[in-house]
Parts: sequence; C-alpha cells; structure tokens
Amino acid sequence: MKKTTTSSEIFIDPVCMMQVASGNKNLLFTHQMRTYYFCAEACCKAFQKNPEKYLKLKAPKRKGLWGRYLERLNKVTGGRAPQCH
Ligand SMILES: [Zn+2]
Repeated sequence: MKKTTTSSEIFIDPVCMMQVASGNKNLLFTHQMRTYYFCAEACCKAFQKNPEKYLKLKAPKRKGLWGRYLERLNKVTGGRAPQCH
C-alpha cells in the first residue's frame, strides 16, 4: 500500500469537507483500500451508506490543489459545511 501522507495526519471528511485529524479511530471507514476519517458519526454513516456519492465530489489528491479546492468551496458555501448534522 502506498502512503502519500508524511508527517501531518490531517484528512478530509469526504461528507462535509471538514479537516479531521486521524486521532479518532472510531470515526474511520475503509473503502477501496483507502481510509477515510469523519468529524462525526453521522458523517461516517452517511458515507458508509453511499460512498460513491461523496467520492465523486473529490478533488485531486495533491495537497495544494485540494487546499485550493477547499478554499473555493468555502467561498461558495460561505465558510460553512454544506451538509453536516
Ligand atoms: Zn462531517
């Protein structure tokens, strides 16, 4: 398995696009050889129900692009997560 992250273990909650630290082992889900972390159980369950729906929204893997994507997303949503809780 390839590991793309190095020192900082920050992941993106694919449901609400929040940044999530890898600390919370209760809120992770492995799908197609990748592990996803979630900010809350509600997001985790939503993802488990329909992973493809959320993965379709995913931007390229590289951090720079992903960061810019998130910034744009924040502008669009006014800085609030589009759907969380
Ligand atoms: Zn979330």
